Amino acid sequence: MPGTIRWTWFKMANRFLRKAGASTIVQKLSAKAILERNLITEGDRILIAASGGKDSTVMAWALSAIRPALKKNYELAAIHISSDFCACCKKSALSQRLEGWGIPFTDLFVPIIGRLKEGEKMNCYWCSTQRRTELLKYAVENGFNKIALGHHLDDIIETFFMNMTAKGELSAMPMLLAYRKYPVSLIRPLGYVEEQQIIACAAERDILKAVCTCPYGINSKRRDVRKRIAEFTGNSGAVKRRIFKALSSGDRDLLMENE
Ligand code: SF4
Repeated sequence: MPGTIRWTWFKMANRFLRKAGASTIVQKLSAKAILERNLITEGDRILIAASGGKDSTVMAWALSAIRPALKKNYELAAIHISSDFCACCKKSALSQRLEGWGIPFTDLFVPIIGRLKEGEKMNCYWCSTQRRTELLKYAVENGFNKIALGHHLDDIIETFFMNMTAKGELSAMPMLLAYRKYPVSLIRPLGYVEEQQIIACAAERDILKAVCTCPYGINSKRRDVRKRIAEFTGNSGAVKRRIFKALSSGDRDLLMENE
């Protein structure tokens, strides 16, 4: 997809912000991302990773709402991974809401702390790895070929800055990532949507917001990067979208030769 075509969504985002409601903005930007980046194809079986938070719930709503406009037949189902230490989301309310949008819901329990070996400490990396493994396993065993994650534009930029400043690496969260070993791809349909647009959409649609009360969830590095990005960009959506654009454009040869 030529860069000029992709660039149009940046302009669209501003225009919609002025004219449309938040739900319309989320639908349009998700549809644009799906079409431009070929995230969904005919006959896909998509498993939504539903944490119970605003991002994945808004994504589930959007994927269901835009299906007729996309004119693609794809199947949606959602899975929530419960653990032995975190009971923060309102699962029954979540399942009712998802099923109301025609999305079947499964709750899968994973004993994340219980899997720690003696002497090992619980941390977010371990937790995410266990969750991702189970998600992947469930998708493969149940014939899903796509897993949809609710990461948005701000998550992607934050990850980019975190990887750059903490690991010295230019990497982020691709909107489409095909696993080499498994017949499954990860997709991030909210990649063009800013967090503030998701918050506004959730408020407009009265989408419940489960507050994460996880005792291990004090991710100070991400919070710090978020604060620095806000200072650096002046919290301007246009600047954030230009940073995002930089991730998938430009001449890589002009960055730096490999060490
Ligand atoms: S915040 Fe809690 S639930 Fe989230 S990844 Fe970290 S340990 Fe897991």
